Amino acid sequence: MLENGLEAIIVSDPKTDKAAAAMDVKVGHLSDPEDIPGLAHFCEHLMFMGTEKYPAENDYTEFLTQHSGSSNAFTGMDQTNYFFDVAPQHLEAALDRFAQFFIAPVFDPSCTEREANAVHSENSKNLQSDMWRLYQLDKSTSSREHAFWRFGTGDRKTLWDTPRERGFDVRKRLIEWCEKHYSANVCKLAVVTKDSLDATTELVVKQFSPVVNRALTPPTFPGSPLTAAELGKTIFVKTVKDTRLLELSFPWEDESDLYASKPGQFLSHLVGHEGKGSVLSYLKQRGWANGMSAGAGTNGASGFDFFKIHVDLTKEGLAHYEDVASVIFAYIALLRQHPPAEWAFLEVAQLSKLAFRFKEKSPPSSSASRLSMTMSRPYPRDKVLSAPWICSEFYPQKIADLVATMTPQNCRITVGSKAEIGGRTYAEKEEWYGTEFTIEPMADKILAPGKDAAEYPELALPDPNALIPQDLEVKNKVKVDKPARRPLNLRNTPISRVWHKQDDRWLIPRAGAFFLFRSPHIDASALSSVQTRMFTELIRDSLQEYSYEAELAGLSYNFDQAADGILLSLDGYNDKLAVLVDVVVKRMKEYEVDEKRFALVHDQLVRMYENFRLEQPYQHVGMDGAHLTTAVSYPLEDKLAALKDVTPANLREHVARMLGTMHIESLTHGNVTKDEALRLAASVEETFKPKALTAEELKSRQALVVPPGKWLARRPVPNPLDNNTAVEQFTYVGDLYDDELRARLSVFGTIMSEPLFDDLRAKQQLGYIVSSGARKSIAFMGLRVIVQSERDGPFIESRINAFWDEFKVKLEAMSDADIEKYKEAVISRKLEDHKNMWQESSALWVDIHSGWYDFEQRWRDAETVKKLTKADLVSFFSTYFFDSADRPLHRLSIHLDSQRLTPEALGTLGPALDKLGVEADPAQMAALAKSRPTVDAAKVAAEQLLRAKGRGDDDVKQLLDEVEKLRTLEVPQGYELIEDREQWRSGLEKAPHAHPVAEYSDLFPAKL
Ligand SMILES: [Zn+2]
Repeated sequence: MLENGLEAIIVSDPKTDKAAAAMDVKVGHLSDPEDIPGLAHFCEHLMFMGTEKYPAENDYTEFLTQHSGSSNAFTGMDQTNYFFDVAPQHLEAALDRFAQFFIAPVFDPSCTEREANAVHSENSKNLQSDMWRLYQLDKSTSSREHAFWRFGTGDRKTLWDTPRERGFDVRKRLIEWCEKHYSANVCKLAVVTKDSLDATTELVVKQFSPVVNRALTPPTFPGSPLTAAELGKTIFVKTVKDTRLLELSFPWEDESDLYASKPGQFLSHLVGHEGKGSVLSYLKQRGWANGMSAGAGTNGASGFDFFKIHVDLTKEGLAHYEDVASVIFAYIALLRQHPPAEWAFLEVAQLSKLAFRFKEKSPPSSSASRLSMTMSRPYPRDKVLSAPWICSEFYPQKIADLVATMTPQNCRITVGSKAEIGGRTYAEKEEWYGTEFTIEPMADKILAPGKDAAEYPELALPDPNALIPQDLEVKNKVKVDKPARRPLNLRNTPISRVWHKQDDRWLIPRAGAFFLFRSPHIDASALSSVQTRMFTELIRDSLQEYSYEAELAGLSYNFDQAADGILLSLDGYNDKLAVLVDVVVKRMKEYEVDEKRFALVHDQLVRMYENFRLEQPYQHVGMDGAHLTTAVSYPLEDKLAALKDVTPANLREHVARMLGTMHIESLTHGNVTKDEALRLAASVEETFKPKALTAEELKSRQALVVPPGKWLARRPVPNPLDNNTAVEQFTYVGDLYDDELRARLSVFGTIMSEPLFDDLRAKQQLGYIVSSGARKSIAFMGLRVIVQSERDGPFIESRINAFWDEFKVKLEAMSDADIEKYKEAVISRKLEDHKNMWQESSALWVDIHSGWYDFEQRWRDAETVKKLTKADLVSFFSTYFFDSADRPLHRLSIHLDSQRLTPEALGTLGPALDKLGVEADPAQMAALAKSRPTVDAAKVAAEQLLRAKGRGDDDVKQLLDEVEKLRTLEVPQGYELIEDREQWRSGLEKAPHAHPVAEYSDLFPAKL
């Protein structure tokens, strides 16, 4: 604790390769002034934009990028959290910049309006997101007596236009607000450092002592946002995506003080249980639900909370939503009639202790962020680390008291669906997101008293968990100085390849394992590809009760369709790992299609593919880019069509064919001996006894090379309501396994990323999403820039190209010292060590799965980067990013164009109106532009305008023809439009297959 009341926690970790810090300020958007929604969030944004000591608006981010760092922040209901990480030797300088946020921010007036626009596009990105819409609906329909209802993001209107109309100065109000709510005594600082505790303490005291202490009492929000007026009601809401959900919310107390017993967490363990006898198990048997979760502790803020139960309904479940709610209340009645026994609590307590004891490290910036938030909670200071994890005291009376409050009368229900629910119309519209909803009294069927667990004999409290690890012995007792960089190949036959690395550095009783099942039948056609997907979904579905128990016991698994096979991966305590592998592969082998589950899982998958079309445009561009440059790839539309043809009968045939001919590649890494790894792999092979693949079938997939030229692939954004357009501009560089080229690309990508962001997002305000980075395919690489904006595609493309022209000058003007900084940043990122065992397992697996087996790449890269000069980078940039006779540009731009017209496009109608001699009312035109009409809507408006002025059919036709032209965007100069994607793909050259790059004595050729 500093003299100014600022509390700091310092973690010294001599091994860390990143230092980090986070500040948690105990104020968030629930403290926004009523007339400026979003002010706390706005304040968070402006903190980054310069301080008295470091006035340049991008000083902080630029400093961090140059020193392998990054930063972020978020604004919650009652807290604002800022965090960054940086190369350890630069912590002092970074921390000094960071401290200035809280000492002397300038809130530069030149940034204020621009940043209001940045917040506006952040919010506009959320407008079509159901998560955000439901969150705000929950708030907006709560009691106005409680601060919970507030809208926290803000937009241009709340942060700029409205305040200006009303004649007050936002910046002035912001400074006042900040002075009212920011104070040293409500700030919690967490620092992760490589240096000693003493040295860092001294540094922190020096740097943070000037933060002013205003001796504030942090805001707290007692009482519940759900009062008698809101409870006992059901909200019916129309969702954007095709989802069907049921949510039960109970007012709950803030349990921060009950950290030792965590009654809410224990109850959510029971209510949200997915094993035998659980609510979900029952609902799935009835075909009413696909998933469920329950929880408390994360839904509220200081002074209040909610207990929430969320059910992911099936179509039938939606029709039976009242029955679904009744089952939940029957389970709650069971908890009342048969209070949970102490052993059940002790099981949870034991697992919580294990989880804390063998907790793996997370990246320093997230550790710092989490620690600073924990410090803001009322935990005793000697338990700050363990309190969020461990529960130790059984508190049956409190549990009983809480269960007693979980009645229908004390609950609010939300039912959401894209399709109408029981013929309802939605009378109301939520203010900020436009979400349509209606509120009704809760149905009598749910309210009816006397819910009795006896009506549902299937329901029962969970049995003891058989998968809790017993053997926690660590087999390797000695940590080696230099951990091995790669696994050993233990076995290589036509059927299988077995890799193993026994842990030599973490010394914990955990392991990771991967099994890749390759078969030529896995994606021979769009139909077989979706059949494979159905198979993986059905297997996971059929194992859910079992895998849920495993997950509770600290052992999780994934079973997914990978690009070239089916991937089974596991992570957790190694004691029961082999048991879980055995259960999964036996289920694969013996799976009998359950027709009822088939229908439900099929429906779920169809909705998932369909819903993806509603995802934001920037998520589509990457997928389109991958499709266009991969030899075997099926577009989403084809898969969706094929999915309709999958039947239980043809799925059975597909599975038999697929499992009959397979190659199995596996890796076991961790607290597992060589013999155990071999035994595990042998038992998997024994289960299937597959036929071998031919040499040709075993080769990796292939990428397609982007040909010379500037190519443009465009299509409309599928969601007609989305105002945003996304552009991915990909510049192809060359062979992924050219070490020189790869080093140049990574340094160049680091140098240009911050200037690009600063130019397109901060200065030109194209939109919230501006990002760039290397994109690597199976065998080639290049650089991509992604921008999502409310401007149109050709404009965005032209801005990116203008950036390249300007950057040429900037790069040439850079000093050698600047270049060295970026090189250093790349090197330290390449050499960054794994933070935990799972990260190491995954990295080893990526090298195996890629087919290149290049385990030493990052060390080699670091050496190559060291030798690069500025001249190398300048020549790299001019060679690959500009057209020349020696080497033409290879560029592929993907545009997802919003279906809505931009104000700029509508503005081009001016001359057409002039020609007709029509004078349009400017206010009316401005309103039309603001509504972002589609072409069809603009036509209706245009016709109305002319008719109102008494114009005839000829004039109307003339104007409508002009509007129609807006449907077709121009093709930027020098670009060639790809009219038929499939035809274009079929003409491309295939890049080489992946193949092992290094020679290891134990590696191929096969040793049998
Ligand atoms: Zn933000």
